[in-house]
Amino acid sequence: MADYLSRYPRQVEDDDEFIENDFGIVPGLQALVAITTRAQAKAQLVVLNSGKNEPATAQSSPEDDQPSRVAGHEFDVTKIGDAQKQDSFYQEQIMKLQQKSSNCSFELKNDILYKIVSNDKINKKLIYVPSTLISQVVEAYHASLWAGHFGFRRTHNNLKDRYWWPNMKDTIRNYLSTCLKCQKFNFARHKAFGHLNPIESPRGPFQIIGIDYSGPFPTTSDGHKYVLAVTDYFTKWVIAIPTEKQNAQTTAAALYEHYICIYGVPRQILSDQGTPFNNQLMGAFTNILGCHHIKSTPYHPQTNGAIERFNATFERQLAKVTNTHMNDWDIHLKSIVFAYNTGRHAATEYSPYQLQFGRQPNLPPDPPIAQYEFLKPSDYFQYFRRTLKLYHRHAKDNIVKHQRYYKSKYDTHRLDIHFKVGDRVLKRLSGSRMKLSSIYSDPMIVLDVRHPTYWIRDELNDMVYQAHVSQLRSCSAC
Ligand SMILES: [Zn+2]
Repeated sequence: MADYLSRYPRQVEDDDEFIENDFGIVPGLQALVAITTRAQAKAQLVVLNSGKNEPATAQSSPEDDQPSRVAGHEFDVTKIGDAQKQDSFYQEQIMKLQQKSSNCSFELKNDILYKIVSNDKINKKLIYVPSTLISQVVEAYHASLWAGHFGFRRTHNNLKDRYWWPNMKDTIRNYLSTCLKCQKFNFARHKAFGHLNPIESPRGPFQIIGIDYSGPFPTTSDGHKYVLAVTDYFTKWVIAIPTEKQNAQTTAAALYEHYICIYGVPRQILSDQGTPFNNQLMGAFTNILGCHHIKSTPYHPQTNGAIERFNATFERQLAKVTNTHMNDWDIHLKSIVFAYNTGRHAATEYSPYQLQFGRQPNLPPDPPIAQYEFLKPSDYFQYFRRTLKLYHRHAKDNIVKHQRYYKSKYDTHRLDIHFKVGDRVLKRLSGSRMKLSSIYSDPMIVLDVRHPTYWIRDELNDMVYQAHVSQLRSCSAC
């Protein structure tokens, strides 16, 4: 849980701290921008930075300390001056200047209107940007090659010593919130959306199972590449099956041989929403069993909260015991699973083994097990039934208690956003992302809503995807 939360940074007050942290994760991006543009940007930066360390004064010439000729942009002082004349705010100020109004903090020089700002007894002359040019100016200082898509603090700092317009901070913030590149490449500034919806706790063992694949791992001599982990939601009992492939037929066959032929047919199978073969899995079961009454439910692993995911822990354990080529992991898999099943589970406060067999296992270093004495064979059955009943009752209470605790922790400071049909959203990209690739997809449109599950269509290629609300963010750039 802590691990999961740490992947979703809390809201950070200062944009740039946040963005710099993020860019620490994709450090190449900044470097790439710097390298590709160094030569061309150098000339521009010289112009931009000239006089940067010298305080601008009322006496200094605007041509010296203003970005009057920034190459590569569609605006310069002349253009701003022309646009100013069409602007009603400009006309108001000119009137005040002509009337020599005492409350006018503007100055007209070379036909261009400047705002005079006093800071530490130093007057600064800032070019007034008319409303028609504001977005172009902000774009240049945020999204041009040399600006690097930094956040609010840097963008505002770059602009506030050069330009002025009313409600400058708000317009910069608004602009940044609609920058598609920033939305695709920056981590969300909030925890992933959606509250936890714990699945209803099963009434006993072997009713609800979760299946989950890990891998690919180095191919073993038996040709295994993947691990199919099956978790019983009540006892938390895990079986792990090494497989060659990761498809519907392999899954159905492995479940039949390693689960159904030992424990019987489960009522419900939960599989990760991201698993590509979910749709074919039930068909493959029908082929094997002749019929099926199994309910298949896709879930989002982080948001059902019912299981401690075996997969999250076993890979580390497995890595410790395999050979240097890591290609004998399937030999060690059973031992790791045994260790897991005999350990106490946080949710039930019992080991899966105890809930399965009504007793603790005897481990190799343990002294011989105490002798039970029963007068007749059915006494053992009575003993076994009483013990298991007691264990199961306590385990069920503990699961409910654990789910409540987990849900309240998960939901804290988290918005349960509901999107509507027609909303535009970005989907968090999963899988192994290249370091320089974006974190979120291009804009998609919401087609169908069954909160927390959404069907969304990629507007570029018309592909339809199913996504959990926690994978989505609103697209204010659309
Ligand atoms: Zn941006």
